[in-house]
Amino acid sequence: MPSRLCLSITPENLEMEPSIMLRHNLLDLAKNLVLPPSRKNMLPHSQPKKMEIDPVGILRELVALPSVNPMGCAEDKPYFGEARVTAYLEKLFRDLGLQTFRQSVAPGRDNLIALLEGETPPAEGGTLLLFDAHQDTVSGAGMAVEPWTPTIRDGKLFGRGSCDVKGGMAAMIAVLGRLAAERPRGMPSVVMACTADEEYLLSGAAALTALWTDGSCPAFPRRPDAAVVAEPTNLDAIAAHRGVIRWRCATLGRAAHISQPHRGGNAIYKMAGVLAAIERYEREVFSRLPAHPLCGPNALNVGTIAGGTCANIVPDRCGIEIEIRVPPGEDAEARRRDLLGYLTREAATEPPALHDPPYMHAPPLPDDANRALAERLAAAAREAVGRGQCRGAAFATDAALFARAGTPSVVFGPGFIEQAHTADEWLPLDQLHQAVTILDRFVRTYLVSGMK
Ligand SMILES: [Zn+2]
Repeated sequence: MPSRLCLSITPENLEMEPSIMLRHNLLDLAKNLVLPPSRKNMLPHSQPKKMEIDPVGILRELVALPSVNPMGCAEDKPYFGEARVTAYLEKLFRDLGLQTFRQSVAPGRDNLIALLEGETPPAEGGTLLLFDAHQDTVSGAGMAVEPWTPTIRDGKLFGRGSCDVKGGMAAMIAVLGRLAAERPRGMPSVVMACTADEEYLLSGAAALTALWTDGSCPAFPRRPDAAVVAEPTNLDAIAAHRGVIRWRCATLGRAAHISQPHRGGNAIYKMAGVLAAIERYEREVFSRLPAHPLCGPNALNVGTIAGGTCANIVPDRCGIEIEIRVPPGEDAEARRRDLLGYLTREAATEPPALHDPPYMHAPPLPDDANRALAERLAAAAREAVGRGQCRGAAFATDAALFARAGTPSVVFGPGFIEQAHTADEWLPLDQLHQAVTILDRFVRTYLVSGMK
């Protein structure tokens, strides 16, 4: 059905079709995006090869392949997109003897899925474990180190994506390689999903969950029993995190030459009133909401502003982007509506400020459904390397979409979230090796014995 393949989630589409905006969540939209695996994407079932995987070598090669998320930018840049990393991973997984599948998320941007078959097929009662790591990174612009020339210094590997999240991805691949080579007794089936577009819309993860129920991908005869999502957590197991909603707001005026300002209406002045009201709301209402024991308080931020064309023209438009983060148990859309009501009362402009529907809406990861799994992983960490705790986080991940689709999910990986997206992003290599040891133990000790 070629027509299905043309559909894609892009910010442009979302702007054109506000009725199918993400408040209905990306999951619904993603159902239309499923690319049924074609024969050419599948290897005939073959014996996994014995191949020692060096996670540092894998990480070096991944960092050297730019995979910058365009984040809605219409311009094309040579370093945009996941395609280079996807092709590299596809070859690597096939060299390991694993079946691979692609799922189109947007033109030229695919989820890559690799299947390591366990002792008992999931359809016959075997355990199905999902490893997830996103392929995309944020921009390499303005970095103090070479973004795509990985360098090792003082036990750290520097480069864009080293920490978020190619290090976590390399650790998972190393574990997959070991399991494929050794095939321990009772080994679960492990699916590794290398998703696209995590840094912007989480649309890769949303598309992936559609495969769990539509039967189109042999790697997912059913929903996974558990998911481990790679993100830099300092080797802790994250049982809960906050959700996010983002949208654009604009004020409109009338352009006029600066010599006759009375003929115009200054959109930036109007936006100044809106901004002051948002700041007041943040101080008087938002910051007083109760904090979540694992994930902390709600958060409200105006992250960008743009308006006007030059100093001698009265600006006719000013736009901002607003983000709200809510802990588990909170409804981000309800918080958004409360803010919009406040602005209508407290910062009325003429014409009224325009608030687009959200272009990104990711749910929180609630600890009630995921805590038992996270405790198991934290215990594996303590046994393997002598430390590791179960805790919450303030950032959003693919895990929330997996958990919402019914799979207990935990976030885990080497590195510090404080290093993600920074000018000198780096990963401590001792943590990379420890992550391999921990994940390996987790799979063998806990999941081999079966977990449903
Ligand atoms: Zn990440």
